[in-house]
Amino acid sequence: MNSAMDTKIQLDALYQEIILDHHKDPRNFGPLDSAEAKAEGFNPVCGDRVEVEIKTDPKNKSCLLETKFTGEGCSICMASASMMSEDVEGKKIEAIKMRIESFRNLMKGESLQDFKDTDLEALTGVCKFPVRIKCALLPWTTLKEAVEKVEP
Ligand code: ZN
Repeated sequence: MNSAMDTKIQLDALYQEIILDHHKDPRNFGPLDSAEAKAEGFNPVCGDRVEVEIKTDPKNKSCLLETKFTGEGCSICMASASMMSEDVEGKKIEAIKMRIESFRNLMKGESLQDFKDTDLEALTGVCKFPVRIKCALLPWTTLKEAVEKVEP
């Protein structure tokens, strides 16, 4: 369905490989048992749908213990969700909110240093394709919504 759009994007070959790997084998994909909060996101431009479910650490409510996602979408969206779920694992909610802002900046071609040597670096090139930025951002804006629901 989205393959025609995907071929228009020409990213660095190594980056492309990382994105495809996450798309084929998404990390933390599936429903989360006893999720504490969840949010749904939809990108009408591309048809991407994401549901993000989260659980905080019972011993430390300010930390996110687990993040899982379900949904369907293009490779950029699914890879972004997969990378995000790994990236935020075990982080403090305050830090995650900053991370979401950093990722937003990354999609403007800024804050590159914040993602250096992480898989998310592979999404750097997406900022050159404005129509795909929404695809990459969707999981993050959905996570933000979920995170705001667990705040005390
Ligand atoms: Zn998309």
